[in-house]
Amino acid sequence: MLLREVEYAKPSSVADALAILAEHDGARALAGGQTLINVMKARAASPDVLVDLNGLDELKGIDLAPDGTLSIGPMTTYTELVGSAEAKARPILGEVCNQIADVQVRNRGTIGGNACANDPTNHLPPLLVAIGARMTIAGQGGEREVPAEEFFLGVYLTAVGPGELLTRVRIPAGKGDGFAAVTLGADGTCIVNAAASLNGSLRIALGCVDATPVLVQPESPDDEAVRAAVQGAGIQPPADVHASSEYRSHLAEVLAVRAARAAAEKAGG
Ligand SMILES: Cc1cc2nc3c(=O)[nH]c(=O)nc-3n(C[C@H](O)[C@H](O)[C@H](O)COP(=O)(O)OP(=O)(O)OC[C@H]3O[C@@H](n4cnc5c(N)ncnc54)[C@H](O)[C@@H]3O)c2cc1C
Repeated sequence: MLLREVEYAKPSSVADALAILAEHDGARALAGGQTLINVMKARAASPDVLVDLNGLDELKGIDLAPDGTLSIGPMTTYTELVGSAEAKARPILGEVCNQIADVQVRNRGTIGGNACANDPTNHLPPLLVAIGARMTIAGQGGEREVPAEEFFLGVYLTAVGPGELLTRVRIPAGKGDGFAAVTLGADGTCIVNAAASLNGSLRIALGCVDATPVLVQPESPDDEAVRAAVQGAGIQPPADVHASSEYRSHLAEVLAVRAARAAAEKAGG
């Protein structure tokens, strides 16, 4: 289907982008377009103005601080994360980005777009929650930082409000991470996924079982402790053509165990 007519702006600074977003109620940021353009074609979204972030160097780049903290521009693509020497400070980032869809999507799709789309089947929301990412949100009134577990608010809904942009993703150093997913086909959409981080205490975030990632914090990475924590979360996953609610609940336990085992192995290695 063809796109509805839409105005297009390509600002040259974040300040200009924020001004355009504040000026037009119906304006939407355009990152890699791998979700937004598709939902526009399907007429599920009809912004009046597309504010193209692709010219903004301020929103690009991966910086590694001396303490190992990564500061990632939201316009960084999956391919850039996979190939980045700096991003190896948190190897799970590249590993998971390399599993998303196909080369074309990985070359265009961005970490910021993936987070801001907050499609419950996306790979990155549970990963960002598990590894303790912190998200910087900017508006004309200034900046604030929110932890990833407070960033994802509902299906396609995040803490980024009208007139605001996600401007940075900060990720602490760590290597004890794991990710496990059951997908539709080799590189397809996730039916359920789980991300685990064992850098200090264990954090596991379950994806595709609710509108936002479900964080569980088992006392240990032992299989039984992980299963008990997932059962204790009382999830009631949605059912659709791909999986029943019961099957998703079962997968959540199995994948949490796999992700926790991988995290424990890497933490000890
Ligand atoms: C065939 C196909 C298969 C896919 N399979 C998967 C998959 O298996 N797993 C997966 O995780 N994803 C998958 N995706 C989605 C893909 O990862 C998208 O790239 C991602 O969801 C959105 O990123 P984007 O950069 O393309 O953002 P866009 O599509 O440009 O934007 C998405 C949303 O985020 C907003 N936004 C973007 N950047 C910002 C910002 N800095 N501040 C505020 N708002 C912002 C936009 O306004 C829009 O609402 C798939 C896509 C396709 C086309």
